[in-house]
Amino acid sequence: MESKGSATVVKHTGSHYMLSELPKWDIFPAVIRGKLRLKDSDSTNPIAVGDIVDYTYDPENQIAVINKVHPRKNYIIRKSTNLSRQSHIIASNIDIAYLIVTIDFPQTRFAFIDRFLVTCEAYKIPVKIILNKIDLFRDCPDTVNSFKEIYLKAGYEICELSTIDGTGIEILREEIKDKVVLFSGVSGVGKSSILKALDPNLSPKIGEISEHFLQGKHTTTFYEMHPIISGGFAIDTPGIRGFGLIDLDLNLVSTYFPEMLRVMDECKFQPCTHTHEPHCAVKRAIEEGEIAWERYNSYLGMIEEETKYR
Ligand code: GDP
Ligand code: ZN
Repeated sequence: MESKGSATVVKHTGSHYMLSELPKWDIFPAVIRGKLRLKDSDSTNPIAVGDIVDYTYDPENQIAVINKVHPRKNYIIRKSTNLSRQSHIIASNIDIAYLIVTIDFPQTRFAFIDRFLVTCEAYKIPVKIILNKIDLFRDCPDTVNSFKEIYLKAGYEICELSTIDGTGIEILREEIKDKVVLFSGVSGVGKSSILKALDPNLSPKIGEISEHFLQGKHTTTFYEMHPIISGGFAIDTPGIRGFGLIDLDLNLVSTYFPEMLRVMDECKFQPCTHTHEPHCAVKRAIEEGEIAWERYNSYLGMIEEETKYR
């Protein structure tokens, strides 16, 4: 650590932050300067894992003091509680969010996949889908292809993976080498297995944490960034319950479906909800097979849900 400089927040432990000058992994503790604390009022944490901050070393107290947060490239939040308007920033400056899904064993529901993708679009987080357990589907390429088709049409990248036979692991390892990435997926899709395949030191550390969340235990949530041995940094996410708990602007939901956004200018009515309106370009694209009905179905579910809880 220098006497002053910039570093990335890699951990938050309540009273302290841990910083490191990435890509170097050499962590040191820091505290937040009093005034900084008050500035950001709509989130419960003014500093989040992934933030790049300026610090000065305080020799008297022998600790770094954070005095500035650099503007965030992106971030994801969750609401602190259902009733409160306050939000908690989970992580920021994410290069790629990986959504791990499985067609079966367990089946990842479209509603879940699409809500995750919409959240990433809303927060400008680049997202890629990892289709894990591909080894189980060697004999049914049609099933795999029709699943992939849905998301390829939408414009997403989808990578086949297997922690059993190693498919896709090296590509993934290469891809995350110089990045800060986030892994998410419902329980059982193989999140821990993938992390373990990438770096045996990572798992079960991360997996245990997410299991914890999935059991719905309400402990204080602290997020953490982990270095991957072959390069890159992974942030664990609180399983899934917390993710996507955001208020969506009803009128904007369809803009978070890239394939709908592409055609919606051609809808006769503006704005168009793509439900009952005649001459709707989105509905036409579905009929012509350019937009998958599974995605449209998720869209309908989302606007219904948003309307109900308003
Ligand atoms: P997590 O809950 O998402 O962390 O999932 P785990 O990594 O604990 O994996 C759940 C189960 O799926 C375990 O029994 C793993 O052995 C199995 N599993 C993980 N990856 C694969 C894979 O690529 N193929 C198959 N067939 N099973 C896998
Ligand atoms: Zn329309």
